[in-house]
Amino acid sequence: MTQPQPQPAQQSLQFQCPQCGGEMIFDVTAAGLKCKYCKHQMAVPVPPGAQGAREIPLREGYQRAPRGLGVATVSFQCRECGATVSTAPNERTVTCTYCASHSVVQTQPDPNMIQPETLIPFRVAREKAVESFKSWLAGLWFRPSNLKSMAQLEQIFGVYVPYWTFDADVHSQWEAERGWYYYETETYQEVENGETVTKTREVRHTRWEPAWGQRQDRYDDVLVCASKGLPEEMANSFATFDTTHLMPYAPGYLAGWRAESYAIELPAAWAKAQSTVENGQQSKCRGDVGGDEVRGLVVRNQYANETFKHVLLPVYVAAYRYNDKPFRFLVNGQTGEVRGDAPYSWIKITLAVLAVVAVIVALVLVFGGGGGGDSALLLPSTHEAAEHVRRVGA
Ligand SMILES: [Zn+2]
Ligand SMILES: [Zn+2]
Repeated sequence: MTQPQPQPAQQSLQFQCPQCGGEMIFDVTAAGLKCKYCKHQMAVPVPPGAQGAREIPLREGYQRAPRGLGVATVSFQCRECGATVSTAPNERTVTCTYCASHSVVQTQPDPNMIQPETLIPFRVAREKAVESFKSWLAGLWFRPSNLKSMAQLEQIFGVYVPYWTFDADVHSQWEAERGWYYYETETYQEVENGETVTKTREVRHTRWEPAWGQRQDRYDDVLVCASKGLPEEMANSFATFDTTHLMPYAPGYLAGWRAESYAIELPAAWAKAQSTVENGQQSKCRGDVGGDEVRGLVVRNQYANETFKHVLLPVYVAAYRYNDKPFRFLVNGQTGEVRGDAPYSWIKITLAVLAVVAVIVALVLVFGGGGGGDSALLLPSTHEAAEHVRRVGA
């Protein structure tokens, strides 16, 4: 007899335990579903008809790609940063996962959203992410004192961040001018001790010749972040994911976690990927030209076999606000790598600067007050600082 499979409950991202009927969530240590109550574990069920990871041809595939997350979810859209994040229906959220804004509204998930093809499951446990957050906070200098209480530890969430990846064959034809250096001995005159003398020197010239060629390259998994919640530079500096560990998408991986819907549509993402590819081809062709110098390089690219995948990548996000500005702390859910930004406290910095000035003034008063040789030990700038303070104080 086969074991009953946990079924996605109606209108939810929940999976029911076949043993006790409790809620199952995707557990990092078990790398599978685990019951919150009886601790029963099982592999993430593969949805019937799932084809596993595959690349979808860009043109026709866009029309035929499967839609939705495979289970119904509750979504919250942030009016401030624009991110739409899905949660389990028993999880209510009043703030945005990415920017901690309170302007979140519940929305229906877009049924036309292209379904993720693959994902990297969370491998870093939540406790580990919280620990990283704590030690990151402890290591900050000159930060507002209430930051630590504002950045509440329970406000760290595991979110699957949407990305597009593209594969393509590129055929590049290039034209350029190739420069070769050559040297000529030149004579010149110089006045030395009132006499005009003739000297020689080596002068570099460049001989230019026309050059052209072609090359064929293949691009694999060019990543484009499709998140609206993560600022682009933060998402790009954070793209240290090992995409060789991508797993075929199954809704079970999302049980107990959040997922953002992509906010950058496929055509816009493909345009971004193309500029990455074109920059790559430009420098490869430049290398092909050879010679000592290259000028007037023109590259024409033709694409073939363009395919895409919609992938979800695991990130822990702790978002908090300071003076109504959002700040974020991130942990890569696959590698544990950490990124964060935090406000500076100008009051603390000013106090620290004043403290340094006070020490210098004290030193000047103690050692510099007598005048004469002793003051030579002090740097001129400390004299100036002391004088300035005295003038201000007068
Ligand atoms: Zn159970
Ligand atoms: Zn937001």
